[in-house]
Amino acid sequence: MNTLTKLIISVISAALLSACSPSNDSSTSNENISSDQASDVISNITSEIKTEAVTEKTDAFPYAFEQVANNTWVMHGPRELPNPENRGFMNNPGIVKTSAGLVMIDPGSTVHVGKDVLAKVKDISNLPIVAVFNTHIHGDHWLANQAVKAAYPDAKIYGHTEMLVEVENGEGENWVSTMNTLTEGASLGTEVVAPEHAVDNTDIIKVGDTEFTIHHYGVAHTKTDIMIEVAKNSVVFLGDNVLSLRIPRTSDGTFQGNISTINTILEANITTYIPGHGPTGDKAMVEEYLNYLAQIYQAAQKAFEEDLDSSDVLAITKETTAAYKDWHGYSELLGPQGAQAYGEVEAAEF
Ligand SMILES: [Zn+2]
Repeated sequence: MNTLTKLIISVISAALLSACSPSNDSSTSNENISSDQASDVISNITSEIKTEAVTEKTDAFPYAFEQVANNTWVMHGPRELPNPENRGFMNNPGIVKTSAGLVMIDPGSTVHVGKDVLAKVKDISNLPIVAVFNTHIHGDHWLANQAVKAAYPDAKIYGHTEMLVEVENGEGENWVSTMNTLTEGASLGTEVVAPEHAVDNTDIIKVGDTEFTIHHYGVAHTKTDIMIEVAKNSVVFLGDNVLSLRIPRTSDGTFQGNISTINTILEANITTYIPGHGPTGDKAMVEEYLNYLAQIYQAAQKAFEEDLDSSDVLAITKETTAAYKDWHGYSELLGPQGAQAYGEVEAAEF
């Protein structure tokens, strides 16, 4: 109960007490609260308490879309892994406004999160969502397609050709079940709604007055990644090829591929870079993540050249990547990533 409600209740209690007390001064009787007035006040309190309950419910999803460029908004989600508290929400849903309606990038992780995200879209525009891009196969980015399709059945959903293949092979169901385990059932009811339109590098999707250019340079974070450039707004949605303040799982991709993909997209000279997780930024934000990947790969090369084992990479990266130690996922992933990079260096030698 908030302070305002407490105050109202104490004022009313005093008024009711005085209304119920016998007055020994008949000249003040018209200042006493009547029973009609008392019931008005009680109904006011009730509606106050109801309003508070509604506010508390909305606060369960305390995220909002922030404008990051012309006609472009991002909701920067939590950076922790899916858990019962965040109900699976951990990514950066994006919105681009066009003359034909809204285009959404990565609507989120479950049908429930998707509904919450869609409700917040209304704060920026009442236009319908006419298209959705899914940046890659990882379910925290796209299982909320279900909520978008339910609200906007005509919305076209786009994903990389390889993503459509992976969903066809059951990877969507795997993600539904992973999400359910991690959120301890908070995602229950979520179903696979796959992208139905395949895109690949250099494709341009025109929506109203706005062009969306697809970038895909082979395996990077996964083999299903697309980056979506909106040249008109000088913006690119990077998916998980670039993260900020969070270390992703890299096991579905390669260090070499991710590093070369980032170097290529940096050549496009874009003003606003939107990572899959963490704060939106400029070139410097992208370079910071590139440096993390490069440090891991270089440590693996060093270990290999010195005839050390894959497990020895960690001793090097603990020093060379210390600046990233507060990023979410760092302590769990640094060891496995060193071993992964070592395997790549070894494979490149043969
Ligand atoms: Zn991912």
